[in-house]
This record gives sequence, C-alpha cells and structure tokens, in this order.
Amino acid sequence: MNFELDTHTHTLASGHARNTIREMAATAAERGIRLLGITEHGPKSPGVCKEYYFNSLKMAGRNVCGVELLLGAELNILDASGRVDLSEQTLRELDLNIASLHTPCIAPGSRQENTQAYLCAMQNPYVDIIGHPDDGRYPVDYEAIVQAAKDCGVLLELNESSLRPDSSRKDAWDNDKEMLKLCIRYQVPIAIGSDAHCRDDVGNNSYALALLRELRFPETLVLNGSAERFKEHLRARRSRAE
Ligand SMILES: [Zn+2]
Ligand SMILES: [Zn+2]
Repeated sequence: MNFELDTHTHTLASGHARNTIREMAATAAERGIRLLGITEHGPKSPGVCKEYYFNSLKMAGRNVCGVELLLGAELNILDASGRVDLSEQTLRELDLNIASLHTPCIAPGSRQENTQAYLCAMQNPYVDIIGHPDDGRYPVDYEAIVQAAKDCGVLLELNESSLRPDSSRKDAWDNDKEMLKLCIRYQVPIAIGSDAHCRDDVGNNSYALALLRELRFPETLVLNGSAERFKEHLRARRSRAE
C-alpha cells in the first residue's frame, strides 16, 4: 500500500515526546512521507503547552525538509457532552484536530457514557479524527461510533501505537477488528496514525497494516494512500463548519 501521510505525531511541545518539529519532519522525509500531522496534546494533559502555543501555530511554516505539515492538536474529550480543551476560536485556525479519551483527563465511564462522549465530540465541526477509539479501558458501542463517523464525515483512527505489545491501552486488536469490520460494512474511511512520540516511530504502520491485511480491508477506505485525497476529505469536513 502506498503510504503518503502520517496523521498523528507529537513533538517536544507535548511535554513527554522527545523530538522537534524539524527532526520529525526530517525522518518523515527519509521515509517517503509527504504530509505529516503534528497533533500536540491539548492543554489539559499534564505538562503540555497552553492554548497560547496552539494560537501561535498560525505563524509556523508548513513546509519543513520538503514535507508538508498539518499542525494541530490531539484534544482531550473532557466529559460525556464531548467538551474539548481548546476553544472553537483556536480550533478553527488549526490544520488538523484529533479528539481522544485519555486517562489523566477523563475517567472511564460506562459503555453508554464513553460512546456518548465520542458521538458528541464528533458534532464539533473542528474535530477531524477520533483518536484511538480502540482502548478497552473505555468500552464503546462500535456500531454507534462507526455510523456516527459516517454521518458526520469524521475519520476513525487506526492507531499503530495501540497495537504494539507494550501499549497501555487494552484489547486494541480485538476492538480494532470489530470497528474495522463495521467500517467495511458501512464503507467508512479510516486514517492510520503512528502516534509517534519520537522520530524513530514516525510513519510506523506495520501492526496496522498486518491487521488490515488480515481483514482484507479495502485500500480505498484507507486515507493514508494519498495526501491529496486526505486533504480533500479534511476540506469537506471543515466546509460543514462554515
Ligand atoms: Zn492519545
Ligand atoms: Zn497521541
């Protein structure tokens, strides 16, 4: 499979990640990635930048080492109403926003509450991707999530880092299988994100690709194959906000 973009990475600005934007971009260039999503943790995560940092990204260059950058956030969903930790005014200036559930920011709720949190976050027109909806610590109703993603034009993420043997997320392989089978049934596209916190992991996708192969997941539903197609998808999603 052609792999032109990685939609989910972190730099030093996320506090617990280890490389700069330039270092991440240089590795992306070496690995043939044309479009790199740099999605720093939102301000409610421990030890990260404040909203001011995200506001300043509008001044940052979008082409580094020949790689086009999408600069944005991995937002924390804060409650079952889908509230996130950056204002709408800030979000609309960012290129790419992922919304995720993280243990320091929201305690796992019931299946219904976790599902509700994702569904409400998808109603936010500046949320482009739901991050790692595979974490069994937050059980969800995948049927509801996949159908809502289709209705809203939000992408569901296949998170490489969740599939690693050392991942702290629970039951990701089984949960991803369930989600991906529903994506095939309802023809819902996905994006693979490495969730790299260091340059060595930029563009990593081997576990994700193995899972997609096992499920005979159609390539046409994976948006990492074409940077242009991904950007077109983003534009369509954002156009709903205007
Ligand atoms: Zn995350
Ligand atoms: Zn992340």
